Amino acid sequence: MNILVINAGSSSLKYQLLNPETQQVLAKGLCERIGIDGRFTYKPEGKTAVKEAEVAMPTHNEAIKAVLDALVDPANGVIGSMKEIDAVGHRVVHGGEKFAKSVLITDEVMSAIEECNPLAPLHNPANIIGIKACQALMPGTPMVAVFDTAFHQTMPSEAYMYALPYEYYEKDKVRRYGFHGTSHKYVAQRAAAMLDKPIEELKLISCHLGNGSSIAAVDGGKSVDTSMGFTPLAGLPMGTRCGDIDAGILQYLMNKYDMDIDQMLNVLNKKSGVEGLSLVGSDFRDLEKAAENGDQKAELARKKFSYEVRKYVGAYAAAMGGVDAVIFTAGVGENDHGIRELVCEGLGYMGLELDKAANNVRGKETVISTPDSKVKVLLIPTNEELMIAIDTAALAK
Ligand code: AMP
Repeated sequence: MNILVINAGSSSLKYQLLNPETQQVLAKGLCERIGIDGRFTYKPEGKTAVKEAEVAMPTHNEAIKAVLDALVDPANGVIGSMKEIDAVGHRVVHGGEKFAKSVLITDEVMSAIEECNPLAPLHNPANIIGIKACQALMPGTPMVAVFDTAFHQTMPSEAYMYALPYEYYEKDKVRRYGFHGTSHKYVAQRAAAMLDKPIEELKLISCHLGNGSSIAAVDGGKSVDTSMGFTPLAGLPMGTRCGDIDAGILQYLMNKYDMDIDQMLNVLNKKSGVEGLSLVGSDFRDLEKAAENGDQKAELARKKFSYEVRKYVGAYAAAMGGVDAVIFTAGVGENDHGIRELVCEGLGYMGLELDKAANNVRGKETVISTPDSKVKVLLIPTNEELMIAIDTAALAK
């Protein structure tokens, strides 16, 4: 079964054609600058050819058309015709409280996704445009929506409620939703396979540390708490996002610097996090280099980030009444052994011992705790596309 996975943003679109049964990726690539001029990248796996071209993309329709043309192209294509695409899986950021699972897309589902737009105004409308463009070009092909929020819908109310007047939840749906659900679900399943135990018997803490970062407490295969909240601004400090701060700071800074709320949110979303703290940048590779060269603020940013991750590990172990394994995934979690070491420092009291030699690894499924460590530490590369393809194949069948 070949599944086309689409991750549509407002001006870009990532795609991958893969077979979830064999896990073989046939081709992948990126459409950028949609609505501006259009830049197209196509990489068929196993072939050296990489196509990069300027393709006019006034709308997402032209972008999807370029993807389909490339996939069936006689020279560099990977399938004979579009009939060989069995279904399309769409990443959708926000499913609100309506979607606790992936769903086959119908007209009703489209309306329900549209109703979630106010909760993710930057992301959901773009996801919908991507779905509509595919529907126009591939009528009759089953389409599935896979939500970033769905995995966290199992959280108990004490985890997802904010201590705000109840009416804001009832009337306005203000609550913790959490994101990166597809990634947390994937690595939790892989952890169970690596530990050779049923997921129902495991208490896991999944640390998705990338440009955006979140942590999830996964008890018996179900998300019971997560660090992102009503929006992806909450929780850990990130590349440029501040994570949790005292809400009182907003009023103080807005008054002092005569900022309106949009300007304030721009600072919190785009100018804060490890970039704001270090004044070096949001990329952890740059921070590491700067810290090695004695830059104190870069060192502080790495320490602050790791400290907050460690606090969540402690908090979620407490929330679940124990933990069997801590998982590191995403760009920073998979590659930055120094951050993993800083996070795990001082967790010996809870039976977690990092194996420093084993930790000297990147991007490979590995147990990185000592053989005696009661709490295992796992490095698991995430694969959201595969998870989306698996869900899509199951529903399309
Ligand atoms: P993601 O959002 O998961 O794609 O992660 C992106 C982030 O991963 C980048 O901003 C980098 O900070 C980080 N990253 C990627 N590769 C490395 C690496 N080799 N060492 C340290 N950090 C890395």
